[in-house]
Amino acid sequence: MDKTIRLFQQDPYIRYCNSRITSVVTGEIAALVLDRTIFFPEGGGQPSDLGCITGEFGKLELKYVFEKDGIIYHQFRTDSQVAPVPALLSREKIAGASVLCELDWDRRFCNMQRHCGEHILSAVFYELYGGVNRGFHMGEDYMTIDISFEEKPEFRQMTDEMFFKAEWESNRMVWDDLPVSTRYFERKEEAEGLPMRKALAIEKDIVLVCVGDESNAAGCVACCGTHPRRTGEVGLIKLYRWDNYKGMARITFDAGAKALENCRAVAGLVNGLCVRYSSEPDTLIDRIDKREQKNSETRQEFYDLKQAYLAEKSSEIGKEMSASGSTYVKRFELLKAEDLLALGKLLPELSGKLAVLISLKENTMILISDGTPDCGKIVKDNAAVWRGKGGGGKTGARAMFSAQEDMDCFIEFIQKAY
Ligand SMILES: [Zn+2]
Repeated sequence: MDKTIRLFQQDPYIRYCNSRITSVVTGEIAALVLDRTIFFPEGGGQPSDLGCITGEFGKLELKYVFEKDGIIYHQFRTDSQVAPVPALLSREKIAGASVLCELDWDRRFCNMQRHCGEHILSAVFYELYGGVNRGFHMGEDYMTIDISFEEKPEFRQMTDEMFFKAEWESNRMVWDDLPVSTRYFERKEEAEGLPMRKALAIEKDIVLVCVGDESNAAGCVACCGTHPRRTGEVGLIKLYRWDNYKGMARITFDAGAKALENCRAVAGLVNGLCVRYSSEPDTLIDRIDKREQKNSETRQEFYDLKQAYLAEKSSEIGKEMSASGSTYVKRFELLKAEDLLALGKLLPELSGKLAVLISLKENTMILISDGTPDCGKIVKDNAAVWRGKGGGGKTGARAMFSAQEDMDCFIEFIQKAY
């Protein structure tokens, strides 16, 4: 099979083209091979293009484009409602048919901005600090590059100052609207000798991309991606953060429309916080600190009050229990099971009596004794009758109910039985 003609390489701004189907791949990988294509296959960290291929058979929606041995495969969605896929696949004669290719341009341009943003930032790190880009990742919400400081001995470690300067200088390259040039070489020897940031790793069909001055090695690398004509089209390069990573500095950043979307989201977040804290952005952190301080004081005050309340309740219960029968039951509107556990610990000597403390808020009860009767056994043997759950040990147990009526029945049972 002939290699696919790469129109995206000759002109990355082509959004439509007429092509001829040279082969149809059926089975698990449903894909078309065309004589020429505008769809960039995934490679060099840039994701594959998407779009549509329309022919007499209908419209196919692309889900992935990849390259193998110079041939570009256009994988299409087989779950698409618009495409009569079974009809297409059954007709072998589809090979040779002419089709219209339609590129998802917004997505592609966004990828071109991001990809070129990476070129610019890498060039700046190399130029300023001798930092070499050793790893690149283009994610959905951000990109990362791993910068290794190895060429200028005065720069060994990333600092905030270096980080911000690199951001500024890369945006300056955008404002200067420098040309982005692409040169093709069939063989390695032809490209060698030209200024380049990295040694060539490929042998033939080399594309050399230069951002700005073609004689400046900092901006020139071999790359198979798609690039805008000028750096101005990148629009914006925003560095989000840096981290130490395996002896290198990992820079998280974005470029173009994606960077703008992020700035918009962050500004929205800050505005929302400013409204919530009745603050201006510059005093926001101070406001939040003050609010947190106040909350922490309130929590402490609440805790102290609760402890005092529980202590008072425990002595009150102690008195009531000494006058009660063998089972003492007390219901609480406001306290939770956790509070009742704390209250139980404060109770005086139980001397063979059973205390049943109930949280109406949580339909939960705490049983406490000195071991006689066996609290855990009471719950284990009987709670399930009223759809109760729980358990515990001899001196303390817990039972939870989904309905208050069930819990009341269980209490009634305990009062009769113990
Ligand atoms: Zn590139």
